[in-house]
Order: sequence, then structure tokens, then C-alpha cells
Amino acid sequence: MIKENLEVVEKNIQNACKRAGRERSEVTLIAVSKTKPVSDIREAMACGITVFGENKVQEIRDKTAEIKEPLSWHMIGHLQANKVKYLPGVACMIHSVDNLRLAQEIEKQAAKHNLTMDVLIEVNMAHEDTKFGLSPEEAIPFAKEISTLEHLNIRGLMTIAPFTDDPESNRVYFKGLRQLKDEINALSIPRVKMDTLSMGMTGDYQVAIEEGATFVRVGTGIFGERDYANIK
Ligand SMILES: *Cc1c(COP(=O)(O)O)cnc(C)c1O
Repeated sequence: MIKENLEVVEKNIQNACKRAGRERSEVTLIAVSKTKPVSDIREAMACGITVFGENKVQEIRDKTAEIKEPLSWHMIGHLQANKVKYLPGVACMIHSVDNLRLAQEIEKQAAKHNLTMDVLIEVNMAHEDTKFGLSPEEAIPFAKEISTLEHLNIRGLMTIAPFTDDPESNRVYFKGLRQLKDEINALSIPRVKMDTLSMGMTGDYQVAIEEGATFVRVGTGIFGERDYANIK
């Protein structure tokens, strides 16, 4: 099923790009493999997928220990500062930076490994109580605040839009995230030049692409429903 699902997702991405007058190469599909076994990841790899997303540090560690092929792993979930030390050299990007303590810990661990970590600031566009992320109003001062951390490369913004049956209702949040990115870039904050928008999941990635997503994070649409009983 994974092969067939990927064909559908790829077609949808291409069509959304066409509608928006964008090149297919502007959008990267992150295959969100959380809770899914390595065998599923291998199936996706056989279809040419090399970019994967996970939301738990332990799962990234387990999976990268088992799969030796060069892949790009994105940390897309809420992250506790005490877990950051496992990520340099393992994850290529952290999508969920939303507090100073976490940013400072990434700075410390990246410096220790003598590398710069690509990060995104997570923004809770719909002000949902149940979600992590900064409010849109907090994002600008936060970008300024963490811009001095030299081992962070602040690549852009990430949002998780509300869960809904109607993807059109999330368009306003995707549009808003794009505007926020443009607003931040217009401030010319030293070391902050954002080129990345991580937005859109199975239910709404096509709308997100129309509104400028450069990363879409698709799990269920590729791997099917998740069974959280699989995860310790
Ligand atoms: C699980 C998850 C996804 C994928 O969700 P689907 O609806 O299964 O596509 C995307 N982004 C984040 C941050 C996630 O945790």
C-alpha cells in the first residue's frame, strides 16, 4: 500500500504546485514514520523517499541505529531540552523550537559537536490550548532573541494547523505563517534569513502547498493509520 499511497501523494503535490504556479522542486515531502516499523521505512525508501520525520528522540535514535543508508531525519515533535544532546549529527533539522531554554540547549550541544543546527520556530497560528508553539505575536521577539545563538541556523517557521475535515478552513493559518515569515525577513535581523515553511499534514498539505509550504509532513497519507500501542 505504501507505494500506491506515495503515488497518490506525489500526484497531489504536483497538482498543488501547478495550481500555485510553483516548481515541484520547491516542495520537499517529509514522510512521517512515527510509530511505524523500519520495514515500512524500507518500503518507502524503495520508492525513492529519503526524507523522514519523527516526533520522538528515542525513535529517531532506534531507527537511525538500524538503518545505515544515508537519509535525512527531521525532528518534528515537541522536544525536551534534556533530549537535545542526542540530535546533533542525527537529525538534520529541528522543527519545534518554541522556547529559549530549548534554543540555548541546541546551541550548547551543536557547539559541542562543532556544527550548526538548522531549526524552525514553531508557531501556534490558531492559538490552540492543546498545542505547543509560540503565538504569532511572540514569534518576532523570539526570533530576535535567539538570533545571537551562533550554532543555530534559523531557517524558517513551522505550524501544526487545527485538526479538521475541511482543509480550506486551515488556509488562513498557512497564509498567516507565510506572512509572518515575510515580516520577519523584512526586519533584516542579523543571521535571520528565512527560506523555509514547514506546514501541511495528510489532511491539508495541498492547501499548504498552495500557500507556500516548502516542507509538507505527511504520515497517515503514506503509511496508513497509526497504532500508538506500538510505541513504548
Ligand atoms: C504526526 C505528525 C504529522 C503527520 O500527521 P498525519 O496527519 O498523519 O499526516 C505531521 N507533523 C507533526 C508535527 C506530527 O507530529
